[in-house]
Amino acid sequence: MSIRIRQMMKRFGSTEVLRGVDLDVAQGELVALLGPSGSGKTTLLKIIAGLEWPDAGELRVEGEDWLQLEAQRRRIGFVFQHYALFPHMTVRDNIAFGLSVRPRAIRPGRDQIAAKVEELLSFLQIGHLGGRYPAELSGGQRQRVALGRALAIEPKLLLLDEPFGALDASIRRDLRRWLRSVHEATNSTTLFVTHDQEEAFELADRVVIMGAGRIEQVGTAEHIHDYPATPFVARFMGATV
Ligand code: ADP
Repeated sequence: MSIRIRQMMKRFGSTEVLRGVDLDVAQGELVALLGPSGSGKTTLLKIIAGLEWPDAGELRVEGEDWLQLEAQRRRIGFVFQHYALFPHMTVRDNIAFGLSVRPRAIRPGRDQIAAKVEELLSFLQIGHLGGRYPAELSGGQRQRVALGRALAIEPKLLLLDEPFGALDASIRRDLRRWLRSVHEATNSTTLFVTHDQEEAFELADRVVIMGAGRIEQVGTAEHIHDYPATPFVARFMGATV
């Protein structure tokens, strides 16, 4: 799905978190929102997900005004840190969740849901873990389950907030490769938030650099690296390389 954002503004109390954001994302793109902590990345993602509301601005998806559309109807998959797995449900039930809570009219039958879950378990290479509970999994395995739960609804738009945040470097590298292959297989438009340059530049088709509520630059890794558009970008790139 294509996304068009214009002049998006958001404040929390006296803090201006988004100060006029313009962004276009094409269908099937894998885009990273990269920037220091507090620059507004998560807030922008949450507004697209329908978990926060902007004070002003435009958000269109496939040309449709998404701010008029209920969050439940947006058909997005998301992995946010604070929407963790359900601890009392097995891996299978966690992955099935998004399908089993659909309204009756559009809910697949029980057999169909079970088949979809098995397909995802094998696609995610966690087929042997279907009967386990989240507490019995490693961090990397939990992230795969969380992505499985997001992918179960076959989202046209996938939103990931620091998807590999708390994991070891070697697991992050594996999951990055894996996310790239999932992206290629599903062709969903994917936005992910990270403060890790290497992650953004390795994974994304285009990187959006955010600083203090504004977009400082949008481009490919090479372009941003060779031609930082603002002093902020140059400093940020230099500071964390
Ligand atoms: P990032 O993802 O780039 O770290 P965030 O979008 O999470 O940035 O936050 C941007 C700013 O907004 C921060 O100063 C944060 O403290 C503030 N903020 C985020 N969510 C809330 C909220 N629900 N209430 C008040 N302030 C918030």
